[in-house]
Amino acid sequence: MNPPSESVLDVAIIGAGFSGLGLAIRLRQLGRHRFRVFEREPAVGGTWWVNRYPGCACDVPSRLYSYSFAPNPGWSRRFAPAAEIQRYLADCVERFEIRPQLELECEIRQAAWDDSRKIWTLEATDGRRWQARVLVAALGGLSRPLLPDIPGIRDFQGQVFHSQAWPDDFQAEGRQIAVIGTGATAVQLVPRLATSAARLDVYQRTPNWILPRPDRAIGPGWRRLYHRLPWLGRLARGLLWSAAEIRVPALVWNQRLAWFHRRLALKHLKRQVHDPEIRQRLTPDYAMGCKRVLLSSDYYPAFNRPHVELVTDPIDRIESDAIVDSRGRSRTIDTLVLATGFRATAPVPKGLIKGRDGRDLATSWRGGPEAYKGTTVHGFPNLFTLVGPNTAIGHNSLIYIIESQIDYVLDALKVLDRQGASSVEVRAQAQADYNRWLELRLAGSVWNSGGCRSWYLHPETGRNSSIWPGFLYGFRRQTRRFDLQSYQLVEDECPPSRQGE
Ligand code: NAP
Repeated sequence: MNPPSESVLDVAIIGAGFSGLGLAIRLRQLGRHRFRVFEREPAVGGTWWVNRYPGCACDVPSRLYSYSFAPNPGWSRRFAPAAEIQRYLADCVERFEIRPQLELECEIRQAAWDDSRKIWTLEATDGRRWQARVLVAALGGLSRPLLPDIPGIRDFQGQVFHSQAWPDDFQAEGRQIAVIGTGATAVQLVPRLATSAARLDVYQRTPNWILPRPDRAIGPGWRRLYHRLPWLGRLARGLLWSAAEIRVPALVWNQRLAWFHRRLALKHLKRQVHDPEIRQRLTPDYAMGCKRVLLSSDYYPAFNRPHVELVTDPIDRIESDAIVDSRGRSRTIDTLVLATGFRATAPVPKGLIKGRDGRDLATSWRGGPEAYKGTTVHGFPNLFTLVGPNTAIGHNSLIYIIESQIDYVLDALKVLDRQGASSVEVRAQAQADYNRWLELRLAGSVWNSGGCRSWYLHPETGRNSSIWPGFLYGFRRQTRRFDLQSYQLVEDECPPSRQGE
């Protein structure tokens, strides 16, 4: 174990995914060097490093899936594979020279606010400690696996793993595999398993709306063109972004506007699945967009294969070598894949972030995460959450939201410096008003009233603590300036960030 060391940072960032790295790069560009990015994994990339299941790729067009300040003309496909996105992020680390500020394989056990010193203290699992004026939680909204509590699951004697913990040496050949779950992850991995497994059972609880995925390789000619003509990439990005935004009214205000995509999805299903009975079971009975709309052109055809079965009878129990459904039918398996999603409404582990008076962020968020503009939380001075509450979107690129939040944080740092303040905390009233506004906005939306259960909603309270309900530009406008009037500022007596400089 390393001996404990102490140093005072300007900003401590937990998480080296898209949001944490993005902020780090922007801090570096502004000449702020006293920051660190803490990452428990041995590499950067966040979700794009951790998720290595077969077929893992982005279902947002790659042209949209890069920082605006670091476009990537070299994407190999219209929808980039996970490994390529991870490489892009690793390249950004080198290109923007933030490697010295990265602490890899460094898991933060706790970050606690010391109100008397106006400072965050971070402690890693190996005992090392840091102090920081500002803490940024860039933990990712979907990083804590949701493991199903199915009777008997612990007695299963075969190999069992969550999609996020895919074994690197896994070979599907000859195996009898069951996949539980049919969400965005499952539609990517099922087609791959179907080509090599001896038998594949897919356990579906709720069917999803699925549209064709217009994926294609981007040839060397096009890549050269994007290199040579940067404006072409910007134009393509703008067009794709605008086309995605057109879907917002159907999601937020009027579900009937989704009629075209609904017809397209039903046609897609009809074209791809031969058996009308299976087709019927794959047809959703809730409004399109209520759950994330999936993109896939190879998921449905898997069910035309004789060794792939769609099981829609609920699971009754799991035995040592089989899954038994509610009709008593037992299906023998040797491998169980849990594509069961993430604890999106409990994104922060208990005890990780302790704010004013020792209050625990996870405990405060028991009924679902709540923040002001997705970024600041009452009771947690000098804390900023990237990809925080109500910042998820299903229709466009999250990078746009992330960059809006980064600008907000950078402006907050500027204001702190300018005002000579040691701490800043969102007012309780501002946060309450903001969340009331969100609630009203969400009430009539497809996510809240579309007739489905999704990870957007808290499993007990039903509160939608995930989705940003509007055009993306609306979020950018809200976060364009750090709105001091919504915050309580404490004057600086001895600014910690300047002590160490
Ligand atoms: P998910 O969408 O939450 O899907 C989980 C699946 O597991 C659902 O089909 C769910 O059924 C099922 N399930 C959960 N618990 C179960 C239980 N106890 N018994 C039976 N079935 C159970 O999770 P995900 O597929 O991992 O995707 C999560 C999110 O990650 C996506 O919405 C997306 O935002 C992101 N993602 C993105 C990409 C990308 O390409 N960009 C790829 C993968 C994931 P119900 O539907 O009935 O709840």
